[in-house]
Amino acid sequence: MSDVTILKFGGTSVADAAAFTRVVTIVRRLGGPQPVVVVSALAGMTDALFGGAAAAAHGDMAHARRIVDEQLDRHDAVGRSLLRGDAAVQFQHELDRARDELTGLLDGLAGRAGDPAALRDEVVSYGERLSGSLLTAALAAAGVPARAVDARRCIVTDEAYGRATPLPADTERHTQAQLAPLLGAGLVPVLGGYIAATLSGRTTTLGRGGSDYTAALVGAALDAREIQIWTDVSGVLTADPRVVPSARPIPRLSYAEAAELAYFGAKVLHPKTIEPATARRIPVRICNSLAPDDPGTVVAAEPAVWPGAVKAIAHKTGITVLQIASTRMLGAYGFLRALFDVFDRHRTVVDVVTTSEVSVSLTLEDARALPAIVSELRALGDVSIEPHRAIVCVVGEGLRTTPGIAARIFTTVQDINVSLISQGASRVNLTFVVAEDRVHEAVRRLHEACFERERASLGADADAPLGRAAS
Ligand code: ADP
Ligand code: ASP
Ligand code: MG
Repeated sequence: MSDVTILKFGGTSVADAAAFTRVVTIVRRLGGPQPVVVVSALAGMTDALFGGAAAAAHGDMAHARRIVDEQLDRHDAVGRSLLRGDAAVQFQHELDRARDELTGLLDGLAGRAGDPAALRDEVVSYGERLSGSLLTAALAAAGVPARAVDARRCIVTDEAYGRATPLPADTERHTQAQLAPLLGAGLVPVLGGYIAATLSGRTTTLGRGGSDYTAALVGAALDAREIQIWTDVSGVLTADPRVVPSARPIPRLSYAEAAELAYFGAKVLHPKTIEPATARRIPVRICNSLAPDDPGTVVAAEPAVWPGAVKAIAHKTGITVLQIASTRMLGAYGFLRALFDVFDRHRTVVDVVTTSEVSVSLTLEDARALPAIVSELRALGDVSIEPHRAIVCVVGEGLRTTPGIAARIFTTVQDINVSLISQGASRVNLTFVVAEDRVHEAVRRLHEACFERERASLGADADAPLGRAAS
């Protein structure tokens, strides 16, 4: 283990000048002996740049330019408020260059010059490139010896623009080569998250919310002692706070619990973040940049097993359920392979699967290739499609040892039609599918049953484990 601490700041943590000032204070106070900073684009910047790219692709260059101008003006305002002298002038020049380059790229999208997915990644990469420069300058202005590092020289990926997969060995080698000399010289590297490059140097991105993943990849490459994810809530909460306002922070999660929650919709962590951290057993801490002294959530190897405890409820909308029924499945081998080959060919991820003797049900989030997939599946059996579904995922290491937990969960949502049920092999989750328009109700009711009702009746204090099952 090294002395490196990774501090990753999400978009809301760098939304404006006041937020940048908070970040500078956090890096100084909590960055440990060797901080490495990973930063997202300013809040709303990535969405805006995608909007600009779409406008350009539709031929509306005036709108695309307006979007770029608005966003660069925002950066300019932050720069003016935080930077002085040469640093201010240099940042102005960088913004001017960005404006010219972005205009060229948007023209390219409008004129259909080149692969639009590659051009889009190049356009949106300016979000993290500019926030990286701005944060480096803000840290330097406050006396922190920060150096901007282009993350595209560290994170190496395949060519799947928009959702690229890192090449682990190359990423580790490049990251170490870029960062070790800086760390050796006592400097604080600052990288944009989310952005990466192919081996031939073309810009790619890791999928929306991917800055968390960058932080984990860099943390693994440097064998960091901790990866801190700084966001706008005080840790991973017992449910999505936008659906359950009374959701509370969870003090500790195992890697498996955090991975399931992230995968099934807890937006606070990008789903791939946990994997590099688990491989090196690096603790991941989720903290609130608006309340830096709140304890947050620590994700680490030792699970806190509270018998019967549900730790959290995640949910994810926009799910399609497919059912494939075929008597050819009976006693035949090769059927499932033929079935999953279809999804492989269309590079479509299947989230949840259940099988019976004559049918398979599965869920997809990415429905782009659905028509082609369904037409190929028809060769294997009868196919039915249920769109507008949602996954609910109840998570807790204690689930594996708690008899009766499924009965409790399903009693709570008994009048809501459940179309598919699965208990993951990791046995830290129980997952089911409901109609999208009932999912908020299902999550609220489960939260009440698992966390609120019993806490009240047990008179639980704030430190007691949450969600203890009724005995
Ligand atoms: P950042 O910009 O810092 O990466 P995100 O918006 O990606 O922040 O993630 C933080 C948000 O995730 C929270 O503001 C919250 O609305 C949402 N969220 C959804 N589920 C959860 C959960 N279980 N715990 C905490 N936050 C959650
Ligand atoms: N800026 C990127 C996004 O909005 C990456 C991130 O914030 O993690 O998706
Ligand atoms: Mg995020």
